[in-house]
Amino acid sequence: MNERDSETIAGICEQLGMVPCERPADADVAILNTCAVREKPQERVLSRLGELNRIRRRSNPDLVIVVAGCVAQIATDELRERGADIVVGPRCYDMLQEALEDLTRGCSLTEGGARPVAEGLPVCRTTNLKAYVNIIYGCDNFCAYCIVPHARGREQSRKPTDILAEVRSVVATGARDITLLGQNVNSYGHDLPGSIDFPGLMRRVDAVEGLDRLRFTTSHPKDMSDELIAAMAELPTACEHLHLPIQAGSDAVLERMGRGYTYEHFRSLVEAARAAIPGLSVTTDVMVGFPGETPTDFDCTMRAFEELRFDQAFMFKYSDRPGTRAERMGPKVPEEEKQRRLVELVELQNEIAREINVALEGEVFEVLVEEPDPKSEGHVRGRTRQNKLMIFPGGEHLIGEIVPIRAVRGYLWGWIGEAEEV
Ligand code: SF4
Repeated sequence: MNERDSETIAGICEQLGMVPCERPADADVAILNTCAVREKPQERVLSRLGELNRIRRRSNPDLVIVVAGCVAQIATDELRERGADIVVGPRCYDMLQEALEDLTRGCSLTEGGARPVAEGLPVCRTTNLKAYVNIIYGCDNFCAYCIVPHARGREQSRKPTDILAEVRSVVATGARDITLLGQNVNSYGHDLPGSIDFPGLMRRVDAVEGLDRLRFTTSHPKDMSDELIAAMAELPTACEHLHLPIQAGSDAVLERMGRGYTYEHFRSLVEAARAAIPGLSVTTDVMVGFPGETPTDFDCTMRAFEELRFDQAFMFKYSDRPGTRAERMGPKVPEEEKQRRLVELVELQNEIAREINVALEGEVFEVLVEEPDPKSEGHVRGRTRQNKLMIFPGGEHLIGEIVPIRAVRGYLWGWIGEAEEV
């Protein structure tokens, strides 16, 4: 979501005639796009802001500092006090252009909540081959730990016509792999007239001529429907990859998180999706050390990972986010214990991911070649439909092609492969 927002911010700058430069010391404007989902990235924003302030004092007194994104939305005053000239929240990028036209005025552009996100903002994409397309902004779920609904406001679905126009336009300029984005894509359409829902939208995007691969993120387990699994199984462009955040394996913890499902329900979704979609890869998000998580609760998460065998997982320690319900919950799990649980879970998951990829050695995958491999001369790299990395010997003429590649050696991160004779 943030990467897509950065593409909009870059598009606005480009439209104003700005060009990127290498060092903040040479810049007229420095823009930080920020994430508030955990404490660490938010702390990093403050330290980057401190660095930019030092550069301004020492060598670039006219530098204008802009902070955008979720931290801008939830810590506006603090950022202004610490030297940010323009602070812009994720619902207000349509106002950024005007703010950047007069760099002598500081301002806070952070009307949040239900402010509609504007259509038609310019965009500067970093790659032609893959594109992110927003379908729904904000989130209405208010999971106990999560700052996102506070930072990104209420849900707002984009009109199917606007989404399809953007998909056609990126496909016309070479995109072969599109990811539909939303905090919860399964909520798509509930606020629109008519009966469009997410599986229905997927069917319409799938029909866009020239599109090869269709993905989405993120799907909330409490709202994932049989229709979505059926659409993934049937649609030729729908990739065999499901990202489904589990967050915890203990029902007691899931209940306190306000996630709206049990482990049993989550497991039944994964089983149904795997049964309907051969070769499906399943990835997840999880946190350890949620307030009140006991050793027994954590064991439930370990057992869930052993049972479900995810292809990949984004694993984090819980951190308090200001203003959330979980911030006020106790008892807090001590930092060392959270770290111990995280290490244990990461070791288990790394082993599982490696085993899965080793077991698939010898299989042939369709790979969309994206770039030369930065670490091995004469090799290129790309992604399979399951969103796994494949590195194989080949030249740059292959970039942008979809080629069959045999997985030769499996690792935690993917495979070394070789071109398959066709
Ligand atoms: S579904 Fe829950 S975790 Fe996801 S963005 Fe919304 S509130 Fe946060």
